[in-house]
Amino acid sequence: MELKKLYIYIVCIAIAKCAAVPIQSKDELCNLSPEIVSDIAGYAEVANKIMDYFIKGPFKGKTWERLSDFVDKFGPRSSGSKNLEDSIDYMMVESLTNKLENVHAVECEVPHWVRGEESAIMLKPRIKKLPMLGLGYSVATPSEGITAEAVVVQNFEELEALPSERVVNKIVVYDQPYISYGESGLYRRYGASEASKRGAIAALVRSVTPFSLATPHTGQQMYLENVTKIPVAAITHEDADMLWRQQKRGENIVIHLKMPAILDTKISRNMVADLKGSDNSKKLVIISGHIDSWDVGDGSMDDAAGCFISWVAPVVLKELDLIPKRTLRTILFTAEELGVIGAQAYEAQHKEDNENISFLMESDVGTFAPLGLFYEGSKDGECMMREVLKLFASINATEIILQEPAPDISVWTSQGYPGVGLYNDNPRYFWFHHSEGDTLNVEDPNILDVAAAFWAAVSYIVADMKYDIPRD
Ligand SMILES: [Zn+2]
Repeated sequence: MELKKLYIYIVCIAIAKCAAVPIQSKDELCNLSPEIVSDIAGYAEVANKIMDYFIKGPFKGKTWERLSDFVDKFGPRSSGSKNLEDSIDYMMVESLTNKLENVHAVECEVPHWVRGEESAIMLKPRIKKLPMLGLGYSVATPSEGITAEAVVVQNFEELEALPSERVVNKIVVYDQPYISYGESGLYRRYGASEASKRGAIAALVRSVTPFSLATPHTGQQMYLENVTKIPVAAITHEDADMLWRQQKRGENIVIHLKMPAILDTKISRNMVADLKGSDNSKKLVIISGHIDSWDVGDGSMDDAAGCFISWVAPVVLKELDLIPKRTLRTILFTAEELGVIGAQAYEAQHKEDNENISFLMESDVGTFAPLGLFYEGSKDGECMMREVLKLFASINATEIILQEPAPDISVWTSQGYPGVGLYNDNPRYFWFHHSEGDTLNVEDPNILDVAAAFWAAVSYIVADMKYDIPRD
């Protein structure tokens, strides 16, 4: 994905996540026709029926059960891995078993980055193993590794101000504080490139998380054009802070870094399963998550749970015999973590279908208690979604946050298609994100039921209501 777009997206997500200044426009500025308002208000009863089915009815606990079957069976599902492809096959079989329609997978080429047996050891001033995780797309070190003095900075300005001899042929360690995912994430994304520009031979970045139990957090990084690609990895808060203190005391720090990472490409697939619409089945409401994950933990939170709430929506609606007018299409996108590769490929391969897309939904920042929706699209569409959310006052999921809703569907919403992401109560999301801690233990079965209930009910209303949500 284009770097600038990714950056804007991440900053937006960070803003919403920190609940700093949610951009909210006024309900009073809405000027919908009484017909539209009353059509949407008419879904109150059915919304409650769907919600009850998840929260206290026959589907209670089922989303979590299915999620646990999935993550325990396949574990992490990194782009280009066999685990990922096996998990896609499994979801196709599950989709057929649950009588979804038009079940198929669409191939695309994806990056396949494998970290290998990597390590970092502090050799001076004392010997200490530094828990680390190479960052996605990092180049390898030479096979014998790199042994070099380290220089620690807390921001790019400090790096810039260092005399050349302090940086050339050194390992730059970034001990940047956690401010937000967007802001602090710049060090993960561009730390290697900025260090390389100054002549460093490797970089280590303090993990981008607000909280640490001595666990490193990986993620995608990007080499800027015309810089020498140098190896780069994340280390823990605890170690980055220690290295900073040692440097302040005037200690000579020497680190040995070994990373045998490889990068090639593989074929992966975006998976599609439909609940065919009863009336205007050509029109599509897409409900989605990304099925790939990082290669640590098992990606229960990022983003298997997002996939499952998007996949159980048509399954439950079918069980309830609630067939919306438009087709509800679940898409499990591949290779999001290495740059929204699957969604971009899908969009390019389905230009005709694109015309039929009425609305898009994606859950990719956690499936905790729903608070409302991230929305991007036309003003009238925003007003219509405000009316929809009035039906969810009983679970306090009524807020609209105006921002790019989620990474995969941003491929469409950036073109004016209306779309939403699941805005949820996720202050601990980045504690687990892209780390060994992203496992099923993060997911609470009861809260997941509420998220799944909300998501399915919203999807039914937007797929069934009389009036299309206009494009921007
Ligand atoms: Zn994700």
